Amino acid sequence: MIGIVAVSHSARLGEAALELALQMVQGGGVRVRVAAGAGADADGAPILGTDAVAVATAIDDLASDCDGVLVLMDLGSAVLSAELALELRSSDVPVRLTPAPFVEGLLAAVVSAAAGGSLDLVAAEASAALGAKTGQLGGPEDASAAGEARPSEPQPDAVTRVVVVRNPLGIHARPAALIAEASVGADVRLRLLPDGPDASAASLSRMLILGAAQGDDVELSASGAGAEAVLERVAALFDDGFGEGTEGTPDGADGTGGTDGTAAAAPAGTPGTPVTRAAEQPPAVAPVLAGTVLRGRGVSGGRVAAPVVLLGSPVGEPDPDIVVPAADREREVSVIERASVAVADQLRGRAARATGEARAILDASSLLASDPELVGEASQRVRMQGRSAARAVWEAAIADEERLAALGGRTAERAADIRDIRDRFVAEILDLVVPGVPDRDEPFTLIATDLAPADAAALDGGGCVALVTEKGGPTSHTAIIARSLGIPAVVGVAGATGIAAGITVLVDGDRGTVEIAPDAATLAAAEAAAVLVPFGGEGALADGRRIALLANVGGAADAVAAVASGAEGVGLFRTEFCFLDRVDAPTIDEQVAAYRGVLAPFRGRRVVVRTLDAGSDKPLPFANADVEDNPALGVRGLRIARRSPALLDDQLRALACAAEAESAVVEVMAPMVSTVEEARAVAESARAAGLMTVGIMIETPSAALLASEMLEVVDFVSIGTNDLAQYTLAADRLLAELGELNDPWQPAVLRLIGAVGDAGRRWNLPVGVCGEAAADPALAPVLVGLGVTSLSMTPRALGRVAAALAAVTEAQCVAAAEAVLTAATVADARSAAAEALAAGAAGETAAGVAGETAAGAAGETAAGTADGPVV
Ligand code: PEP
Ligand code: MG
Repeated sequence: MIGIVAVSHSARLGEAALELALQMVQGGGVRVRVAAGAGADADGAPILGTDAVAVATAIDDLASDCDGVLVLMDLGSAVLSAELALELRSSDVPVRLTPAPFVEGLLAAVVSAAAGGSLDLVAAEASAALGAKTGQLGGPEDASAAGEARPSEPQPDAVTRVVVVRNPLGIHARPAALIAEASVGADVRLRLLPDGPDASAASLSRMLILGAAQGDDVELSASGAGAEAVLERVAALFDDGFGEGTEGTPDGADGTGGTDGTAAAAPAGTPGTPVTRAAEQPPAVAPVLAGTVLRGRGVSGGRVAAPVVLLGSPVGEPDPDIVVPAADREREVSVIERASVAVADQLRGRAARATGEARAILDASSLLASDPELVGEASQRVRMQGRSAARAVWEAAIADEERLAALGGRTAERAADIRDIRDRFVAEILDLVVPGVPDRDEPFTLIATDLAPADAAALDGGGCVALVTEKGGPTSHTAIIARSLGIPAVVGVAGATGIAAGITVLVDGDRGTVEIAPDAATLAAAEAAAVLVPFGGEGALADGRRIALLANVGGAADAVAAVASGAEGVGLFRTEFCFLDRVDAPTIDEQVAAYRGVLAPFRGRRVVVRTLDAGSDKPLPFANADVEDNPALGVRGLRIARRSPALLDDQLRALACAAEAESAVVEVMAPMVSTVEEARAVAESARAAGLMTVGIMIETPSAALLASEMLEVVDFVSIGTNDLAQYTLAADRLLAELGELNDPWQPAVLRLIGAVGDAGRRWNLPVGVCGEAAADPALAPVLVGLGVTSLSMTPRALGRVAAALAAVTEAQCVAAAEAVLTAATVADARSAAAEALAAGAAGETAAGVAGETAAGAAGETAAGTADGPVV
């Protein structure tokens, strides 16, 4: 494995570039260190600069388990620091400083390193990383820099297969990264048919230069020992549209046929009548009523309420039959000129508010809008043929598009830019709603069927505070952009576009819900929760008793964010999130890489890794091939091992390897356990693999009732309140209609948690909570009173929960727990807890004394100390 050091003047730039790069390798698995910034000033503000000692330390850090280290630098003194670091370092691992561009180079290097590339290859990939961009933007010097993709000699022993590019965006960076990842084990090449260039699958840049667009045929060839299997894997990625959907593929399943925005033929208009928009009807959408909660997949965390804005639909084709009288034509030309100025101004205004890539895209679009060629050609059509202003622009843009298409190469995206400008002109001229992301500064929730990259770019700097789409998955464009903007997003929400514009929705990116027109109390709670409360890095009650506050993560990028928010460790690493779009089981090496990505940032700290919880709401194609009538009650979680023991064994081996290579304190736990035999078996398997601290999740009433017996055979338990509520109330957690049943405040759920807490105290063993309940500041003291010793949650909730705990003593927590255990309803439980905590606060001194006694009786961690780490 080749390690990578990213040297930047700005810590934020370094981390953001790393976050972007790690998106390419689906959960990490690469060894990257960021050496950025020059510390902080007295106020804690970051100081820009680079530090040779930090660079040397990063290199030495990677030296122990890397065969070589590639160093990327941003500019100026970063280069000097990197050079000096070579003198200062203490290791002798081969190190290469690369002149590669910082962001593109880091992406390419990370992909190449994850695919097992040598130092030479990783360095070459980084250096060629500007190829795709320079190839696209042209220029005589660019062709050599881009390292043009050329046809190569056929490999004599190669197996071949022709596949179709099905995803709307073609082979862009993320699909290319997936192909590179899936190609490990064989020499794979891609050739754009019929006679296009070819590229090695090991080269991200060469694959991008292919310019393969949706609908293109690509010939895959593979040679080497694992050729057949690798080819299958890569072909499956194409067939699946790289997890980005296959809408618009000419032969795609949905049969919609094309995504080029071509409007239906307009009905003939009456010559001389005012120009109207052609009657292209949007598809009928079922209206969604107030009070409804829609569910999808939360792909970017956070909770925000804001009015809905629907993504503007494409404009229809202007009437071709209008003939403007000769006397009016110059006036019509001036309409085009005014529209050009207005559209260019709008785009410039948005560019000024945007940053980075989004700004560059918008700047380029504003230039297109004032392009004299386009305006001139449209004006000619008015003068010579009497076309209306809108029609003339439409036709001139189509002619431009055709010219672009004739040039070949990566024209698809540029043609889309022309169409975007065309639609803006037409909207401006005909006074229609501007297509795409609306330009408004007030906060809004953007709802769309799906987002195009240009739409996503337009989000930066505007008022969009949440995203909801009907399509898309966790790796979709929407998900990536939302995470990079740090706004909540829920994708795959069926019927979302039926929500009327202007209605306030509450988007919860952690739970994957969209609540329509929530009541005032819900809104107030959401608003309060939206204010991020900083977390000091240590959870404790007012009387000093430690309650570890941990993070739930799904991959390396989450882990980096969790460390940044002060999490004491990881209480739930959902390993299945690393492999959601895999059609075949990840190899042990792939798993080791993914797990190390999460362990690395938590050096010396506890990371609880959950074995694959595939099935039900999180099916994995390679683990849950069967269609079950009741998947939530089916072969999910640990039960998969009954059918495929190798899946569990391989995962435990991979985890043991990852734990060995990193210095996090690794613990493993199994989901969906219901019998003591299951707990015993998984504990034996894990220990045999070298993982000595083993726990189970308490997600079924059976496991909760048998908690004491479970703790005889495992070292800790962690309560998955999401599933525990689902199974206790027999209410599907995905069914919005039954949402109020899936509430951890349900007295039956609280009593089961209490039973588990009692078992923990009896054995003096840790009891965690890692379901959503852990993130509820009102519930946290109750859970502690019930015997819970650690809480694991989305990192953004840490500060709020920490503050709630810091305000109460253990005696108050115990009193609140006792109160809820006698409650009959959710409302009773909530008010009983609030009253008990308030009463405790009133008699604080007495409570403090009682608290000390209770703390002693309650038992502590496995380590048995009040201030030691808690699971
Ligand atoms: C739970 O069920 O509470 C839990 C943490 O697991 P998941 O949400 O991943 O099923
Ligand atoms: Mg669960």
